[in-house]
Amino acid sequence: MRHLLTTAATLLFVTPCLAQQLHLPPVEYDHPYNGKLTVERVTPEELRAQCASAVQSSLGCSFPRANSCRIILVDEALIRAVGWTVELMLRHERAHCNGWPQSHPGKRPYPPNEGRLLP
Ligand SMILES: [Zn+2]
Repeated sequence: MRHLLTTAATLLFVTPCLAQQLHLPPVEYDHPYNGKLTVERVTPEELRAQCASAVQSSLGCSFPRANSCRIILVDEALIRAVGWTVELMLRHERAHCNGWPQSHPGKRPYPPNEGRLLP
């Protein structure tokens, strides 16, 4: 099992950022983006090529500008392979668009224990 996990991580070039446990951004950054938000799907190669100087370079990254933000994500299968979901990734990257620093201060545990009842 450990070998399989190591292999998967190597294939996906997972950075320490996403090798950590699932988490949510802090509440102050976890809200809709107030500007033009663009989301694109790219291959892992394209992601690494484009994210070299960006906020994050692993499964996705964001390019915050003054009034717009561009998010690029790899294919959903790759995101799910490391236990994340597209929704979580978008919330993560959108939080960077909203100004969340690259060092991820104040991240919240996921899944949150909200005590919700299933229908
Ligand atoms: Zn991040």
